[in-house]
Amino acid sequence: MPFNLLIGACLAYVIFLFLVAFAAERRARKGGEGWIRSSLVYTLSLSVYCTAWTFYGAVGNAARSGLEYLTIYLGPTLMLLGWWLLLRKLVRIGRTQRITSIADLISSRYGKSNTLGVIVTLLAVVGTTPYIALQLQSVTLSFAVFSQPQSIDAIPIDPTLTGFWVAAGLAVFTILFGTRNLDANERHHGVVMAIAVEAVVKLVALLAVGIFVVWGLADGPSDMLERIETSNLGTWQLDNTRWISLTFLSAAAILCLPRMFQVLVVENEDEAHLATASWAFPTYLMLISLFVLPIAVMGLALLPAGSNPDLFVLTLPLNQGQGGLAMLAFLGGFSSATSMVIVAAIALSTMVSNHIVMPLYLRQHQVGAVVSGDVRRIVLQSRRLSIIGVLLLGYLYYRFSGGRELAAIGLISFCGVAQVLPALIGGLFWRGATRAGAAAGLVTGFAVWAYTLFLPTFADGALLGTQVMQGGLFGLDILRPQSLFGLDGLDPLVHAVFWSISLNTLAFCSISIVGFPSPMERLQGAQMVNVFAHTVGAHGWARGSAEAEDLMMMAQRILGARQAQSLFQAQATAQGKAGFLPDPTPEFLERLERELAGSVGSATAHAMVSQIAGGANVLVEDLMRVADEAQQILEYSSQLEQKSDELASTARQLGQANAKLTELSVQKDAFLSQISHELRTPMTSIRAFSEILRDGTLGADEQSRFSGVIHSEAIRLTRLLDDLLNLAVLENAQVILNVGTANLHDLLERAIAAAGAMTEDAAMKLDRRERTEQIEIYTDADRLVQVFINLIGNARKYCDASNPTLKIRASLVGDMVQVDFFDNGSGIPARMQDIVFEKFSRLDDVSGSGGAGLGLAICREIMQRLDGSIVYVPGQDGAAFRVNLPVKVAQAA
Ligand code: ADP
Repeated sequence: MPFNLLIGACLAYVIFLFLVAFAAERRARKGGEGWIRSSLVYTLSLSVYCTAWTFYGAVGNAARSGLEYLTIYLGPTLMLLGWWLLLRKLVRIGRTQRITSIADLISSRYGKSNTLGVIVTLLAVVGTTPYIALQLQSVTLSFAVFSQPQSIDAIPIDPTLTGFWVAAGLAVFTILFGTRNLDANERHHGVVMAIAVEAVVKLVALLAVGIFVVWGLADGPSDMLERIETSNLGTWQLDNTRWISLTFLSAAAILCLPRMFQVLVVENEDEAHLATASWAFPTYLMLISLFVLPIAVMGLALLPAGSNPDLFVLTLPLNQGQGGLAMLAFLGGFSSATSMVIVAAIALSTMVSNHIVMPLYLRQHQVGAVVSGDVRRIVLQSRRLSIIGVLLLGYLYYRFSGGRELAAIGLISFCGVAQVLPALIGGLFWRGATRAGAAAGLVTGFAVWAYTLFLPTFADGALLGTQVMQGGLFGLDILRPQSLFGLDGLDPLVHAVFWSISLNTLAFCSISIVGFPSPMERLQGAQMVNVFAHTVGAHGWARGSAEAEDLMMMAQRILGARQAQSLFQAQATAQGKAGFLPDPTPEFLERLERELAGSVGSATAHAMVSQIAGGANVLVEDLMRVADEAQQILEYSSQLEQKSDELASTARQLGQANAKLTELSVQKDAFLSQISHELRTPMTSIRAFSEILRDGTLGADEQSRFSGVIHSEAIRLTRLLDDLLNLAVLENAQVILNVGTANLHDLLERAIAAAGAMTEDAAMKLDRRERTEQIEIYTDADRLVQVFINLIGNARKYCDASNPTLKIRASLVGDMVQVDFFDNGSGIPARMQDIVFEKFSRLDDVSGSGGAGLGLAICREIMQRLDGSIVYVPGQDGAAFRVNLPVKVAQAA
């Protein structure tokens, strides 16, 4: 088979995956339901469990150790069949708490401790690196098989170089689809879809090879069974301890492997999918392991002695001259390897970025109480870097650890990540588990694993000298890595599993029992252990002194402007308030923190909200709620509290209304004296000048000058009266609208010209995106232009920046057009943000310059007539007005 053809097929396949991912992403963004979120896709995505280890390594394993490979599928099968017990709880917690990774879960469960997050992250990175190396190794091996110089012109390939390019290609794919957006719940539809497609490819490939072996090479199933019976594999002996350990490890792996946690919990759209997966995924596993034994037996029988059994899936068809089948097998193996690496890199990079990079960044960049800068960009950037770092580590491990059997490397990984299990299970079921206990268990288990399994497997003597290996650490016999405390004669893997897990559990339990959980840990513990009991929102926040506007500013930097604004607006509406700023109640802080946690992890989110809301969290009353003894009192008191919360909110609303009325009446009084003053000044001069004119003693020149003054004073009066009249008409709904189709861009042009914002002496700069303004709307164009003129004119009059700029942005949100007018002046203080829309209201410090304070009131009335609205958007760099308007073109047509 020509090597170039292989490369070509590979590239074509990758491009195909790109397209699949891209299409799914687009579909999901448009809200496309259906197949993207089906339980079938979910189940298929779980097959990232089956990596190149399964695809190539299972056959190798079977050739060496008979039926042992089945244990790797037995564990997950048991876990899924018993999903009701454990997986369901995990998925529910993941969804309610917006968990982003397994490190996030552990950190969040134990009081949002970032230290634990860091420990689990490091453990996951160290544990997964060999695994990624395994995938790179298998892809390079399979490339090498094809490039064996059958023809002269075949390019001899350099395995380290191939490995490097594969790693680099995977990094690009992962960055493109894993870090495109930072949505609140971290779901990656594109990637998941691509993984599901790869799942099908690898299953089909393995089945095809199997069918070829059973029906093409052997004479059907009965002949095959006979051959298995008579081969050496038939005489293989079962080693009980190894079976039990392997089944345990694989069961633990499906919970603790970062990539499994990612697809199982984080990417889960619907708890019900789990029920389907509980039978569908074991079926998948059964199918994929169906032909392992036949392939192994036939490979041993037909291939030259000394062939690498890890590659039988590939070499057997090649050896039999089945080029097409070999190509399919190659793509299957390629799929298995790439899907694992992609998901693992996404999961690990989320952990590294949320628990290590972001906390460091935030510690350095806190300016005052509020983080500054565009945090979203930083998060994405740090994820991209982490992805590159993770793949680089995998590549380095691959280069320097030397080729080993695939299954052996995989099991080292499994044992490493299984160290999270005690803290995880304890955290889900035992309220007494503490942070210190979890940390002690993790560190102990990790150390024992590294000492007894991980380090000894580096090329002999590289990290642990032979002296230590045989004589024990410090020459102490009981510290020999592979027979710790004198436990001799065990298989090294079983030995490592036994000691690491039992010492881990021991440390975890004893330290937890001795210690006492902090309030925050109790709170989180209760929420997770009792996730199914409807404990009424015990929250970790006290009624604090947070400023809603500060919170909004921070939320915009992390969630992005649009999402933050809609979150705040929805909360404000739920509290019965208009505008964007809800009261910072404990419920709201809790909700906000959860949204942020979806992007940056719970520990960081908590730290960020505390910065603004102050450290005052977890009250005694919250702790009381945690105490399960008082379940009934709890419910009663929570009802009371809800009532009292409602009352408090009503009282707050009344207070606000009152304040607004007071402010208005003050303004109105001020206005009356102002308007009589303003009416009087022109009146006085008109009277005086007209008297002079009447006397008739003036020259022609002076006559025309004086009548000019009279004229302009009269115009001023008329304008004031016009405004008042205009408003009165609008308020009484006597307007007749003159609707028609218009182009938003043209209307803005008209308004800008009319407001004089384009003239030479207008110092204000305009910042527009004219392309996005091409929106057809069906409305009363003249009225709308009037609103625009007012907003632009206000920015000209009141924007006090040294280089005033007005940013105008138009966008379509659903069937509404949204036009933003954001300037960079000092804006409008929170107290006045509602009031400026009232008649006669002006900021107190602008006296002579402005009009009578009617402009925005007129705007508001007009927008109401046009079925739209005008609102002030807090938390921007200056004054920020947003005009919302229905499109209505379809109806018009
Ligand atoms: P006026 O007729 O006084 O301009 P408006 O109702 O248009 O009345 O505006 C009300 C008040 O809101 C203004 O007097 C001004 O104090 C404030 N205001 C409006 N737009 C801005 C802006 N872009 N920047 C700062 N303050 C503004």
